[in-house]
Amino acid sequence: MGTDRRVDVLGVPVDPVPFDEALEIALRAAKERANASRVVAVNPEKVMIARRSPEIAAFIESSDLAIPDGVGVVMALKLLRGVVAERVAGADLATAIFRESGARGIKIFLYGAREDVNEGAARKLKELFPDIVIVGRQNGYLPEDRFGELVERINASDADALFLALGSPKQERWIERFAPELRVGLCMGVGGTFDALVGRVKRAPLSWQKARLEWLYRLIRQPSRFWRQRRIFLFAFKVLFEYLFGKRDRVDEPTK
Ligand code: UDP
Repeated sequence: MGTDRRVDVLGVPVDPVPFDEALEIALRAAKERANASRVVAVNPEKVMIARRSPEIAAFIESSDLAIPDGVGVVMALKLLRGVVAERVAGADLATAIFRESGARGIKIFLYGAREDVNEGAARKLKELFPDIVIVGRQNGYLPEDRFGELVERINASDADALFLALGSPKQERWIERFAPELRVGLCMGVGGTFDALVGRVKRAPLSWQKARLEWLYRLIRQPSRFWRQRRIFLFAFKVLFEYLFGKRDRVDEPTK
């Protein structure tokens, strides 16, 4: 899996593939099960984290598909690299994989979020896509000393695709650590997608998504995220400075 179109955004790689192509690549990887291919959604926050964390940078670098998840990343691709890309939101891609999985014979394992959310997400997916096959699930609060056991359960379930909703960078760390032992074809971190599926957190209305303001909607709905989302503003400054003055680093980045 993977693409030959990787582009650098502030030192972090992104694959500017259109949505349908990303979906096809992911479905094929899940079905073929050649190795545990990784799909990572790259948004401005993750770019800024990766610039500080060699571990996360290496994770994105070694991922098979780094989708342009945020509108900020799409704009940066255009401004800094002259690349016109489509936004491929991680939650939308995951939902499309869920939708297509039944017809393609792809079995799903859901790991992450609170027990009621994880269980509710599995139920909701069955309701939305009756032919989906969920072969296993696990909430995201399993103690670390039982991770080995979970890996065995995932492998025994014969899942083709594993979705992790542990938040960033927890989900990336988990994939990095255990992918070599997994027999699934596809691993994808999906952040708060299970919460959105059960309606615990709402995605922005379509009009906001179309106006490219999903980030603002989340900020208004969950002001507690501001401290994390400040990275979005720093990202915008960095992109603007690089656009105007080349590679000069003028904006201080947070250390955590
Ligand atoms: N979560 C989890 N285990 C943990 C920490 C978090 O399963 O140890 C879950 C949490 O319940 C929520 C998701 O991870 O469902 C985090 O979602 P968030 O919106 O923060 O994800 P991000 O913005 O990082 O994509």
